[in-house]
Amino acid sequence: MTFSEEDARRRDQGDPGHRELFRVPPAEGGGYPETAYMAGNSLGLQPRATRDELLADLDAWAELGVEGHLEAARPWLPYHELLTGQAARLVGALPAEAVVMNSLTVNLHLLMVSFYRPAGTRTRIVIEDAAFPSDSYAVRSQARFHGLDPDTAVVRLRPRAGEDCLRTEDVLAFLRDEGDTVALVMLGGVNFLTGELMDIPAITAAGRAAGAVVGWDLAHAAGNVPLRLHDWDVDFAAWCSYKYLNSGPGALGGVFVHERHLGDPDLPRFEGWWSTEASTRFEMTPTSRPPATVEAWQISNPPIFAMGPVRTSLDLFDKVGLDTLRERSLRLTAYLEGLLDEVLPGRPLAQVTPRDPERRGCQLSVRTTAMGANELARRLRHEHGVIADARQPDIVRFAPVPLYSTYHDCWRVAQALAAIFPRSEEKA
Ligand SMILES: *Cc1c(COP(=O)(O)O)cnc(C)c1O
Repeated sequence: MTFSEEDARRRDQGDPGHRELFRVPPAEGGGYPETAYMAGNSLGLQPRATRDELLADLDAWAELGVEGHLEAARPWLPYHELLTGQAARLVGALPAEAVVMNSLTVNLHLLMVSFYRPAGTRTRIVIEDAAFPSDSYAVRSQARFHGLDPDTAVVRLRPRAGEDCLRTEDVLAFLRDEGDTVALVMLGGVNFLTGELMDIPAITAAGRAAGAVVGWDLAHAAGNVPLRLHDWDVDFAAWCSYKYLNSGPGALGGVFVHERHLGDPDLPRFEGWWSTEASTRFEMTPTSRPPATVEAWQISNPPIFAMGPVRTSLDLFDKVGLDTLRERSLRLTAYLEGLLDEVLPGRPLAQVTPRDPERRGCQLSVRTTAMGANELARRLRHEHGVIADARQPDIVRFAPVPLYSTYHDCWRVAQALAAIFPRSEEKA
């Protein structure tokens, strides 16, 4: 390999990231103390700050009991407001357009209550064929909820034969030709499997021009690529916070609803006491007075101990800045791709993620044809201390995360793949 370990170390000195702010799991194998953690697209690492911040919220409960609603250093009643500005900046939203609540699939359902309203011949929901199963189940169950047959109501866009990724031009052509039958377009911003970054502004514009509502699942996009949801005229979006947003397993998700839908009394929404104007909440009236913000989509009072880790993590993104992170991400992912270009040829491995940096985030997915994905991930972990994410049957996903991954981590991935699949001339 022309890429050496010394070269990787040198790059880390020149372009260090923020690894010191995170707790990196110890490695099981491979001779290095720390894991080369490439699974931040599945579950991000724990920021060091999270533990103390969470303990402070717990202490407020111990010391104040119910009075903590108003008297805690971070009062619980308006706690969610502490996250709004950062969440909005992260996705390019106005503060009135973003809120942190619930989990991702729950939020998709709540948003579809408002934004999937099949009528007449306009009944279909468009997703990608490689959609995450939860999204697929969600849209199929929504179709059934409206008395429709999910096999006809749900359209699954497929890549061309022999290709892994969707072409924007094909999505646009579909919307041009069949858009008048589409009620809702709901794609993943970055595909969980292939790592493909969709052209969110172009597809949003085409879907809306065809008369459909356009929502995005940003599970793999939030905290990974810069987003401008307001400017792109996206109708709605939802994301989770446990992948690139490092807020812990099952962390609360985020929701965006475009300003033009806020305060619209004709949009159906499910409501609870957190859907009403905060100043009227304790008037305990039988009818709600929803605010003209996305907070009208809230239902319950938020789980404070789950909000804390999201707040801590969003603060970190706010300080570092996603545009700065994206620049390091482009350098780090290009470096890993350069290593893979040396290692993959002649081995039963192939890159699935688009080569164009503008069409991907930090994840590079690799197809393995001689060994199952689970087996490959197991060997990477136990023999080399590399944690990657397997998607059966044949995809292993590597995500060099710009906040905490290193060039040396990438180098370890390449070394490990080379060692697991020795080329025939190297076996002798
Ligand atoms: C991770 C992920 C989910 C997970 O859904 P939860 O409701 O948070 O369990 C859903 N959709 C996509 C596209 C994902 O990547």
